Amino acid sequence: MARPTEETAPEPPRIWEKTGGGAVLIGWACGQCGQRGLPRQYFGCERCGAPREDISESALAARGVLRSSASIERHAVWPVPFLMGEVELDDGPIVHSFLSAETAWEPGMRVAGDADDLSREPYLIFVLEEKPHGTHH
Ligand SMILES: [Zn+2]
Repeated sequence: MARPTEETAPEPPRIWEKTGGGAVLIGWACGQCGQRGLPRQYFGCERCGAPREDISESALAARGVLRSSASIERHAVWPVPFLMGEVELDDGPIVHSFLSAETAWEPGMRVAGDADDLSREPYLIFVLEEKPHGTHH
């Protein structure tokens, strides 16, 4: 099976980045129809069929609403138990992500990726969203 060939030098996939406005997830955007999704992909648009040339990298704010959560009791890689959540991002896509163990989660809660918590690298861990606006010192 042929490996995907990119013009650029191979680099580890970036799943998220820290920005001044908080964590963002690295996804894609279609230059034809505006569809956005996660994770970053190089195949083309799943909505309108635009070719890969029309797909560009797009950062999606790591903020949204928790739809469900579950405690994982068995896992091949991570120490258990830990929490996973299904998060509907404000930008549209739904992602599955680690959840902080410090909150008693309920569906509908606001969550945000914690750009300062690297304990799940290369993945992002979601925490209860801090009060929006006006909390800067
Ligand atoms: Zn499209």
